[in-house]
Amino acid sequence: MRKTLSAASLLLIAASAGAATQSIDCGRLLDVRAGVWRDKVTVVVENGSVKSIAPTAGKGDVDLSAMSCMPGFIDMHVHLASQTQPQVEALRSQLTLDPQDRAYKSVAYAERTLMAGFTTVRDLGDSEGLNLSLKRAINTGAIPGPRMFTAGKSIATTGGHADPSNGYSRELRHLKGTPGPEEGVVNSPEEARQAVRARYKEGADVIKVTATGGVLSQAASGMNAQYTEDELKAIVATAKDYGFKVAAHAHGAEGMKRALRAGLDSIEHGTFMDDEAIALFKKTGAWYVPTISAGRYVADKSKEPDYYSNLVRPKAAAIGPQIQGTFARAYKAGVKIAFGTDAGVFPHGDNAKEFAYMVEAGMPALDAIRSATLNAASLLGQSSRLGSLEPGFAADIVAVSGDPLQDISLLQKVRFVMKEGVVYKQ
Ligand SMILES: [Zn+2]
Repeated sequence: MRKTLSAASLLLIAASAGAATQSIDCGRLLDVRAGVWRDKVTVVVENGSVKSIAPTAGKGDVDLSAMSCMPGFIDMHVHLASQTQPQVEALRSQLTLDPQDRAYKSVAYAERTLMAGFTTVRDLGDSEGLNLSLKRAINTGAIPGPRMFTAGKSIATTGGHADPSNGYSRELRHLKGTPGPEEGVVNSPEEARQAVRARYKEGADVIKVTATGGVLSQAASGMNAQYTEDELKAIVATAKDYGFKVAAHAHGAEGMKRALRAGLDSIEHGTFMDDEAIALFKKTGAWYVPTISAGRYVADKSKEPDYYSNLVRPKAAAIGPQIQGTFARAYKAGVKIAFGTDAGVFPHGDNAKEFAYMVEAGMPALDAIRSATLNAASLLGQSSRLGSLEPGFAADIVAVSGDPLQDISLLQKVRFVMKEGVVYKQ
């Protein structure tokens, strides 16, 4: 296993890896909890988990003695079912492609994400349920990709961000019918409860709500509040019954504060977070998932005249450039931060650029890595299995040459990827 592997051999390895014991010699390994490098250690992996970590003695099966090893990264906000394209192309695909076509594309997006060092992702929504099928395919070992936790369909209000019929003509809307709770569109606490239960039925792992307008929906506002507090409270209470955490997309302050008061677990983007919102984050213990990458990308693309529609372009120009500054303020104020990019809004596989944007905004490299390991695992509710390399944890290991605590951009050049004891890149 000393070279890049073909898909066929990957599947063979995936099939046989279950019982194998292997030892991996690391030049150094990042103890994310203590915040220090452990020099010259060997990680023994058995049945997909870390069995032991001890000083290197002799030669192991995998030689990473010239590299820096870390726990696999976790991206808390991706959309693996789609990827950005100019509006003309997007319309063409909507008219000519079937869900199956999009599903095959998403297989490549998943593989790129894994090869970039992201061994776990939280997929926060698509309209056709592709993310649920993709999760089943990856988690059963049928195709290579990051371990997935997914929201299934995001829950929106009529005309809100993630109403799947936004932007359609009257005739198309008539053909497709009015979306309701089953399709993730609600307009009362009753329907909100029904929509959460529908996500349970479809096999989701987490609930995603769109608490305010968004940049890429065909609608006028990117930041208006789109739920009443009653509706949000109904979602949170029902989600608790089913063991779901709830993530809220929010740009505007009012919708964000309603979501925080309703007791949601994470706010995504958080663009126009004000001091009152920051105080609510700290009071409730909610996490902030910044997605600076998406902000930077849509701000750039808003300068290309035809990339986005006339409705979307001004929102991208107004909202995109703000997120990195919001992140800097939130970090300084002590808001808990979990790593998330909104990959899909920009090309999949570029997820690790987020680390550089975080460091550029004033976060130390170690804290940026912790946000994508310890913190993300905590928000996932997976703190005893993911986000660190310790006995009993999943054997999710990535490695780079050099010291990423000195040069964070090295995380964009991951050289080795193991997920649950299976080597995917070397
Ligand atoms: Zn998103």
